[in-house]
Amino acid sequence: MKSAGVDCLLLTPGADMFYLTGFEHGHAMERLLALVLRADGSAQWIVPAMNVPQVEDFAQSGESVRGWTDADWYLPALKSAVGDAKTIAFDDDARSAFLLDLMAVAPHAKLRRASEVLQGLRLIKDHAELALLRKAGAQVDSVITAAVALCRAGRTESEIDEDLKALMLSADPASAIAFTIVASGPNSALPHHETAHRKLQQGDVIILDFGTRIGAPVETKHGPALSRAYGYQSDITVTCAVGEPADRDAKKVYDIVWQAQQAAIALVRPGVTCEQVDAAARKVIEAAGYGPQFLHRTGHGLGIQGHEPPFIRPGNSQVLEKGMVFSIEPGVYLAGRFGVRLEIIVAVGASTAELINKVSAQQMPHSE
Ligand code: ZN
Ligand code: ZN
Ligand code: ZN
Repeated sequence: MKSAGVDCLLLTPGADMFYLTGFEHGHAMERLLALVLRADGSAQWIVPAMNVPQVEDFAQSGESVRGWTDADWYLPALKSAVGDAKTIAFDDDARSAFLLDLMAVAPHAKLRRASEVLQGLRLIKDHAELALLRKAGAQVDSVITAAVALCRAGRTESEIDEDLKALMLSADPASAIAFTIVASGPNSALPHHETAHRKLQQGDVIILDFGTRIGAPVETKHGPALSRAYGYQSDITVTCAVGEPADRDAKKVYDIVWQAQQAAIALVRPGVTCEQVDAAARKVIEAAGYGPQFLHRTGHGLGIQGHEPPFIRPGNSQVLEKGMVFSIEPGVYLAGRFGVRLEIIVAVGASTAELINKVSAQQMPHSE
């Protein structure tokens, strides 16, 4: 906080609060529950009175827990907690109403993003975090073959989606599903298609994008607590076909995307910038004439959130450091026909990429 020039940091239940404290709470809603940290090292929780025991379970010694009642509401507690702070960093993901209230009780304070303080910490994954990311990665890797086999003609995207979720959970019943995308035939040309009821046809190209979340129990005064909302995530994309792909360009495009992915992975090491990694993949796709059909960035960071920094995109001069974790997921999308995306997660190692997932299949896998 001191090096960021911030004298007060205000977090509400979310990824940053979970990262620092292990505390999460899904029911605070319009009642403000906040951790207010000061650059002098003091910390205060502002908590709806009925939640005080839950927060006291997590609060470290020396942190004060101030309950406020529904009769008093939280403005007095908020005003006294931020006091005369000149620069307040506010939770990036909090409700905007809380920010408007903060602006009302501290009208002269300069407001900044909490990520300016926390991003540097969350960017570099430590040994325990990497171990959980590897475990989540191995879990999704273990279902790839079975997931491809689910893609048979006559089945709907949503039927495959249900079976895919069950496959992932049976591989690790203690995990949770982070998300799934099942995009078939022409729907695969939409990078973030919402899984629907389309029936798969023989020769369809299918994009399966899926991930899980693995928790590490947090020790509290009343025993270990396991997060329901947060955990270290996995995220992979497999492109496959129902039998032999019907579109004559499908195999060619698959090979281009695979080459692009390998080129990006080969460049990953400390000192290289995010935009250089993006360019390595993009160059291969542009050279093949599909530049305009690569509709998104090459990758995004992964941790307790599914999309977090670093973002592997053109224009991002952020330098890679050992311990950063992100996806490499180039794609080519031909509207009305099909799309191909190949995604794995890598960690920046001492001098190369450490693959968190197995390398994507070099040839398009198919069912039947
Ligand atoms: Zn995505
Ligand atoms: Zn994905
Ligand atoms: Zn992704």
